[in-house]
Amino acid sequence: PNLVNQIAAGEVIERPASVVKELLENSVDAGAFRIEVTINGGGSELIRISDDGCGMTVDQLPLAVASHATSKLPDENSLFHVNTLGFRGEALASIGSVSQLTIRSRTEEDDCGSEINVRGGVVESPVPCGCPVGTVMEIRNLFFNTPVRHRFLKTAQTERGHIVEAFTRIALANPKIHFVMNSGDKTVHDLPPTTHWSDRIEAFFGSEIADALIPIESDDAEIRINGYACDPSVSRGNNRMQYLFLNGRFIRDRSLQHALTEAYRGLLMVGRHPVCFLRMDMPPELVDVNVHPCKLEVRFTDGGRVYGRLLQTLRYQFLKTNM
Ligand code: ADP
Ligand code: MG
Repeated sequence: PNLVNQIAAGEVIERPASVVKELLENSVDAGAFRIEVTINGGGSELIRISDDGCGMTVDQLPLAVASHATSKLPDENSLFHVNTLGFRGEALASIGSVSQLTIRSRTEEDDCGSEINVRGGVVESPVPCGCPVGTVMEIRNLFFNTPVRHRFLKTAQTERGHIVEAFTRIALANPKIHFVMNSGDKTVHDLPPTTHWSDRIEAFFGSEIADALIPIESDDAEIRINGYACDPSVSRGNNRMQYLFLNGRFIRDRSLQHALTEAYRGLLMVGRHPVCFLRMDMPPELVDVNVHPCKLEVRFTDGGRVYGRLLQTLRYQFLKTNM
């Protein structure tokens, strides 16, 4: 079964930043108000994520790290027919199969917390421990038992960059949560909770971007768009500062990027890309979830409609602001 988990890990856990993304999403799902990330050595030595969310009971811990996919696989020969869409509930099992994972957790109802250890997929029985309500996840020596993966890790600095980007995406998507990020013994980010999205954007990108934010809002009842497009003066040489969130998740979408380019047509010099922070919310039936869960791409049931709505919303706002 650990082979199965390791193969799943190959799909879900590409690098330390994938671990950080999965764990941050879990902490958000747990209803945390404060989430703190600490990494050492670009995450391959240590990733620690603590939250003050709902926590887990001693009975839930073994289930959290158990693989759900094994039941779908009659034997190891059919591995190549794995439907990679079925990875839900796989993140912790995958992480535990390629690292040393320690979870300490306590719910509000429990007087005492519990700890569980997984090493290269071997799960130990939970033991009692003292800890506050919430969860602490510690991942040490990522890929210690998968040498090929380990060899493909880039420098600590590069891996740290990917982790900061994963952190940025989730912290931008959840401004009401207090996020802290430490690398080694340095605090890289300490982001107090806020109800103003622009505060969180400024905390990451500084006053130059914050001063260039143009509010965007669509009143379409189904496809809601709100956030900011930036003044052309802060455009970039690449499109990496286009932060699009669909129903609370960061996405990358070629077609929506194209809509942004279209909206800025005539406002930007050739080769320049707009900077945007846009949240789109729509009923789930307008989004085709039938894509790999850990990938950033999505498919819309009516892509043209979403494209048109985004383009129109931006154009209308630009006209109003006389751009
Ligand atoms: P998924 O998030 O798809 O359910 P995961 O493998 O990421 O799968 O997590 C497995 C389960 O462990 C979750 O469904 C949740 O019940 C529990 N869990 C994970 N992280 C946390 C956390 N930080 N706080 C509380 N429960 C958690
Ligand atoms: Mg998860």
